[in-house]
Amino acid sequence: MVVLGTFLRGAPNPVLPFLPTLDLSDAGTPSMSVPDEGVELTYLANSGFLIRSADGGVLIDGMLARPYSSYSAVPAEVRQQMLSGESPFDDVRLALVSHAHGDHFQAPWASEYLAAREDLVLGASPRVLGTLANIEGSAESLEDRLTEFDVEVGETETFEAVDGIPVKAFRLRHSGRPGHDLENLGQVVELGGIRVLHVGDAEGSAGNYQPYDLANGKIDVALVPYWYFLNPGQADFLAEHVNAGVYVAIHVPPKELTSVKALLEKTHPGVVVFEECLESRTVTSSSSADG
Ligand SMILES: [Zn+2]
Repeated sequence: MVVLGTFLRGAPNPVLPFLPTLDLSDAGTPSMSVPDEGVELTYLANSGFLIRSADGGVLIDGMLARPYSSYSAVPAEVRQQMLSGESPFDDVRLALVSHAHGDHFQAPWASEYLAAREDLVLGASPRVLGTLANIEGSAESLEDRLTEFDVEVGETETFEAVDGIPVKAFRLRHSGRPGHDLENLGQVVELGGIRVLHVGDAEGSAGNYQPYDLANGKIDVALVPYWYFLNPGQADFLAEHVNAGVYVAIHVPPKELTSVKALLEKTHPGVVVFEECLESRTVTSSSSADG
């Protein structure tokens, strides 16, 4: 059992002095049933995860059928489980997407998956939803299951695309070329009493995050691109502007996995890196756990 509660957290927060520490235990493969407490975080591919709790499952950036550039996709046998709604995909109620790049969202497969799972709702930016419109028959048949997350730069909006699962969404500039505006969303999902932040391909800088005051939003787990941790000092802004209990490095190209893990073990030993599709960990507030 690994407790990863203190890494990169800033000095005790004067506003919220009782931020929970987390017990991010190794669960190996997903369990057949959802945890009674907290959430189960299951890695799918690249930046794609499934988050499950008793309230249902939420997929983020997980609808990937084909490897894109050097980034991984969800293997065929796991996609089959998704289509048939087999555990751990039996109660997925909401699919979220950070932005419309092919290593985060693939419209043909998303359309197929949504068609197969009639209760599933998709929440995404107008740009992402627009790509579905190009797929024949897709937009009309899905119409009442698409929720537009239309957010202005600098604003935070809360969407409850499915009952009981609020998602806070806000715009974070994409890494790379300035002016490269893709409606990249940061999203905070609250599930099973745990708040999970996913930032897509957000640029890793204080200026990008500062407007959203995440540090006072009690983020339990932050899923952030692995490149934040490659340059000495770059990730320092996380303590002040995100202040999560645990960080997970995402978007690691499979070919770099070994070297990235080795580097992070030295420079950021508390940061979690998932390695294999369906690798899963349970996240609970450790206030009631001894870990
Ligand atoms: Zn991108």
